[in-house]
Amino acid sequence: MKQKKNINIIVGTNNAGKLREIKDLLPKNLIIYSPKNLKLKSPKENGKSFKENSLIKAKFFSKKTKMVCLADDSGLEINILDKKPGIFSSRWAGPKGNFNFAIKKVFNELKKKDPNWKNKKILAQFICVLTLYWPNGKFVNSVGKVKGYILNTKRGNNGFGYDPIFKPLNKKITFGEMKPKKKYKIDHRFQAFKKIKKFF
Ligand code: IMP
Repeated sequence: MKQKKNINIIVGTNNAGKLREIKDLLPKNLIIYSPKNLKLKSPKENGKSFKENSLIKAKFFSKKTKMVCLADDSGLEINILDKKPGIFSSRWAGPKGNFNFAIKKVFNELKKKDPNWKNKKILAQFICVLTLYWPNGKFVNSVGKVKGYILNTKRGNNGFGYDPIFKPLNKKITFGEMKPKKKYKIDHRFQAFKKIKKFF
């Protein structure tokens, strides 16, 4: 049987939650590095879309390390907030990444938009754009989405970010209550990964 070569790859994120999840998706013959391992800071995400930011990160880490890079840009879009927080999803948590704060901001923005929001179904979606970037400048990207509802209280301690207030369509529990392995099989990163899996 032909043995698969070990290939170095850098997963271009400094978000521990995303890193865990992406590592779980990748084939086991890859040697996975992270910016943290290599003491690299993230670039400024000054793109105007998930796609632009995902490419900024993938290109930056690939150029720095001369490795193939898989980077993700993702976030939460809430329909009645005109798709906010969108690309600002991590910035709503402030410089310290405080998601209690970000979730409070979501609740406040919803209240401003509709004082009766707690009695309505608040549609939202998580979006993920993955970019795979090679040191020779070639790259591919893919988009994944998962639709759901925003709840008016936090439920569950699993996951990260907005997971405790996001309940996928047709599920009874939030991402925060779901076992990580279950979440990884249905979420936006998994949907995006399925489309670029053939490159591994
Ligand atoms: P960025 O892609 O590093 O700009 O950060 C995306 C932000 O979106 C994260 O910090 C989280 O707040 C949020 N986010 C993305 N994916 C997820 C997820 O799977 N669960 C919860 N929050 C997420």
